[in-house]
Amino acid sequence: MKILLVQQPHLHPGSIYLPLQWGLFKTYMEVNYEHSLDVEWLDPLFMMDQEVVECDILLLSCYVWNFEKNLEHARKAKELNPDCIVVAGGPEVPYKRKDVFDLYPNIDLIALNEGEHLVSELIYRIQNNLSLDFPGIITKETIQFPPKFAPKLDLSKCISPYIHCFDDMKRFVKQAHDNGKRVICSLETNRGCPYQCSFCDWGSDTNSKIRMWNEDMMLDALDHIVRLQPNLVFINDANYGSFERDLRYIKKLAKGKQETGFPQIVTFQSAKNNKKYVNQCYKVLYDNSMVMAADMSFQHTDLEVLDNIARSNISNDKLIIEMEESFNLGIPMTGTLICGNPGDTVEKWKKAWSDLLVLGFHDVVKVYDFHLIENSPANEKEYKDKFAIQTLRKRQAEQVKDRNLYDADIVVSTYSFNLEDYIKMQSLTALLQGVHNLNIVRFIALALYHNKNVLYKDFYTDFLNFKSIGSIVNNLEIQIQDYINTDLGIKFAEYNGEKCLYEEFIYLSCLDNIDEIYTECREYLSQFFDSDLRDDIIRFNYNMITGLHAKKQFSLTYDLPTYYKKLITLPPNVQCTDSIPVKILNLDILDRRIGVNKAIDFDNIKTTDGIKRAILKNSNFRHRTSYFPSVFFG
Ligand code: SF4
Repeated sequence: MKILLVQQPHLHPGSIYLPLQWGLFKTYMEVNYEHSLDVEWLDPLFMMDQEVVECDILLLSCYVWNFEKNLEHARKAKELNPDCIVVAGGPEVPYKRKDVFDLYPNIDLIALNEGEHLVSELIYRIQNNLSLDFPGIITKETIQFPPKFAPKLDLSKCISPYIHCFDDMKRFVKQAHDNGKRVICSLETNRGCPYQCSFCDWGSDTNSKIRMWNEDMMLDALDHIVRLQPNLVFINDANYGSFERDLRYIKKLAKGKQETGFPQIVTFQSAKNNKKYVNQCYKVLYDNSMVMAADMSFQHTDLEVLDNIARSNISNDKLIIEMEESFNLGIPMTGTLICGNPGDTVEKWKKAWSDLLVLGFHDVVKVYDFHLIENSPANEKEYKDKFAIQTLRKRQAEQVKDRNLYDADIVVSTYSFNLEDYIKMQSLTALLQGVHNLNIVRFIALALYHNKNVLYKDFYTDFLNFKSIGSIVNNLEIQIQDYINTDLGIKFAEYNGEKCLYEEFIYLSCLDNIDEIYTECREYLSQFFDSDLRDDIIRFNYNMITGLHAKKQFSLTYDLPTYYKKLITLPPNVQCTDSIPVKILNLDILDRRIGVNKAIDFDNIKTTDGIKRAILKNSNFRHRTSYFPSVFFG
């Protein structure tokens, strides 16, 4: 009996996730399952261009980003072998719907939760002509709600596929490298999450007790992972750093890097309310150059909103503690928000942004749409009715190039905001990412907040009323409106005939209109600063923008480099009310290399396309790319 598993995640085509799921199922069957089974495990489909081959059982691991493609695989598998049994599992399978098998006629069985035991038991039953009615499997005949879930696995008795299937994994690494791809190892050291954020269906295992893999086995698995020489280890745990052993695992990976150079980078979702080991993990990773940025998932800062998404038990104060530690270590930070939470309003959204800027997230604030994930609490009828949730099905992609597009239901209206507000929140997001994170007027906003106590939300509300900005934002809102109104619309704007992210549209349009914007800024700042200081702030910000207009040499009456260095290196959540020192300066920016590692020399950039490639390419990591860091850091 031939088994084929499809695990083609939402990939950047430059990287390949090793097929962990395949390894987990195969390992369990060969090591833990009580009966021995006569099966042939075909190589899994784990690269995007691989297609199904003839098989007897097709296992589909379904997420929002691959469900459509998986349905196509199911259709082809049936074409190649009409008797093929297609089993779908994963968070995107709508098992709560009575008509699920009518909706997806090529799916024969649905597997709930973790699949290791289910797949073994299923094959045993098929091979021995036994009933397929057992907990964890839904058939057309046994569909019922609520379904019968299988008991959870005792992970402490399981073995990592990185050990048991090491040779296969090695082969897959070679395959990835032969195709010019980077290799990512997904790793789980435990399963389950004690929280139940309404938008989430983390491994269909939220609101649950955490179950651990055996520590000695895990340390051995890490040795094997290091030997695979992955570029990146992506730790899947919902709350990494909750336990002391998590630090031991990180130390093991760091030792691997010291001895072999691999893995190069480790990423994880940190524990929410217990920061002790999280911070120590970050320190080890940072000391070994294995972390790019610490990601802080606020989702929102308003208590009513947090309550509505069942997030108020995850303390933002604890995130601030993590921020302080990351700050002390010098680790770049990124903040995360969700746009479309029930309870949100345009004003609250402005405030959430303003709060993150006060905390110090000036380089990157990532904003995700509220996706209604199939089996998440937010997709329950009761929840949707309670908060009057309205969605639209839209095509999604995080990056314009090199990403798969997928359909997802996004929340566009709730009891607290309508579609018009939603468009405003989207354009506001793009504005703040485009002009603050990307530094069109960041230094102006910083001086207003620290020196004049003008809140970011107030400055940016005024800024939106600038004629020059209003027309840019208007233009974007028309495009957002089009996206909302077009069935097959994709969430990109168009700038000079090319697709781009909303924030990029704002940034590039601002560069095109920089002189008009700065004329209005000058007028606006007159109410706050004397003319010398006003002109200095204008001159400074204008020339610190990584645009082609920026001059290398200019003079100042105030010592703004010293002042701004202080502001951009302040600990999180600290306001500096110091006065701005006077000092006549002739600034000559000789070194215009940008980025944390000064890897890009801005002097080599001659066109807007060059700016797009250098400044805009990595929306998750733009630290020190949108100004000239040598002015502050030498
Ligand atoms: S978002 Fe994170 S903390 Fe919340 S339920 Fe999902 S995994 Fe758990």
